[in-house]
Parts: sequence; C-alpha cells; structure tokens
Amino acid sequence: MAELLFGTGGSPHSAKSASTIDGIERIAELGLGCMELEFVQGVRMGEAGARLVAETAVRVGVKLSAHGPYFINLNAREPEKIRASQDRILQTARIASLCGANSITFHAAFYMGDSPEKTYGTVKKYLAEILDRLKRENNRVCVRPEVMGKVTQFGTLEEILNLSSELEGVAPCIDFAHWHARSGGFNSYPEFASILEQVEERLGRTALDDMHIHVSGINYGKKGEISHLNLKESDFQYAELLKALKDFGAKGILICESRNLEEDALLLQATYGAL
Ligand SMILES: [Zn+2]
Repeated sequence: MAELLFGTGGSPHSAKSASTIDGIERIAELGLGCMELEFVQGVRMGEAGARLVAETAVRVGVKLSAHGPYFINLNAREPEKIRASQDRILQTARIASLCGANSITFHAAFYMGDSPEKTYGTVKKYLAEILDRLKRENNRVCVRPEVMGKVTQFGTLEEILNLSSELEGVAPCIDFAHWHARSGGFNSYPEFASILEQVEERLGRTALDDMHIHVSGINYGKKGEISHLNLKESDFQYAELLKALKDFGAKGILICESRNLEEDALLLQATYGAL
C-alpha cells in the first residue's frame, strides 16, 4: 500500500444509518481512508450484499477489512466448537473477499489452562487447515490473528509474529492498545519502535508496508484489558506511536476502536498528518 490509512472499526456513529453502505459513505465524507466490517456477532451479510458493499467501497475510495465473530476459540475443548470456530473464520474470509477486503482479523483462542506452548501448537494446526481450505478456494484474503489484551487470551505479540512467520498467508493484526494493556508497558516511542523493528526483522520489510493496526484508548488492570475508552480519557501515548509509524514508513490500515470511533480516528489522522 502507498500510505497509512485511518478509519473506524464498524460504521461511524455519524453515519446516516447503521448500514454498512452508509458507514462506508460516511467514512469517505469524513475524509478517512478505511473501515473494518464488524462481523463480531456473526457473519450475517449475504453474497449479494457483499457485492454492493464492494461496489460502494470502490466508488468512494474506501479500503475495507473485516473482523471475525467473537465466538471463536481454536483451543476449545469440544471438537464441534473448533469446527464452528474454523467455519466462522472461513465465512469471514469468504464474505470479506466478496466485499473487496484483503485482510481479516479475529481473536484466535483462549489458553483454557493449557500452557502457551501447547495452545500455540493447537492454534497453529487448526489455522493451517483454514489456510489450506482458503488456498483451495483461491481466496487470497490475508488471515490476521490479533494481538490480544487479556492474559487469558492467546495472542501475545510474539505468538502472533511466530504464527505469521511460520504459516504462509498469515500476518499480524497488531492492536497496540491491547499490547499496552496486557504488558503494562509498550507506551513510549522506543517501545513502539522496538515492535516495528521486530516486525521487520521477523517478517521482512513487506510486513511494514502492509500493516493491519488497531488503536484505541484503553482501561486495564493486572489481568490486562478491561474496556476500550476514548484516547484522551486514557493513558495511551498515541502521538508517540504515530511518530514511530511515520519514522518506520509503516503503511496499511489503522483502525480506531475507541468508543467515539470517528472522533479518535480523525484525531489520529490529523496528528499523524501534522508530524
Ligand atoms: Zn479485535
């Protein structure tokens, strides 16, 4: 991608209606560049709807990504829950592809009391099956497990970078607010820069040229993330992150998940633009 685009997770609050089409049009009106389709309660969009979404996004010049359902756990105890989780990721990828999105993200798993190593092996195995299937379907959507904010959730920065380097078709979705909440650190320029250095070292320059980033204000405790906030109500040093992204020439999409969505997305875009 040629630049770093800013947008919202889901339709902006100020859209005419909650419909995806109105959301995409509002993104363009606001002068933002991208939007994440939130399939978090399930993939309820049909194929015809997805084609309309794709047309709209192309017409107004908005880049799309998609977020898979919350009810995904590739480390579930019951085999049927694993299958259902795989199906939800596949469904997200299929509809996202019809929408013209080239990147999907999702919350991969919970540790469920297993060691991180054992969980990693399980997630990797079931994710590989998904990639295999998508390849056979000729679906080229980039599959991006997200860096997660709670200590019970699979998805440390290292786990996500490891999956990305070991599985073809996988790349990271780096949620910098989650990582700050989970680690209690990673809230300064040198720390943000160290993450970007790691991305380049592990995955190559192309990974920095095509990033999928989440940012929001965040409230957290000992076990990590508690809730999303607006940036100015939180301690998240977004200006430092933006400076690091700019200095590293990071490109791709930056999705704002603050409660106020477009307000913070515009704040991020303006702050970045003024650097
Ligand atoms: Zn997420």
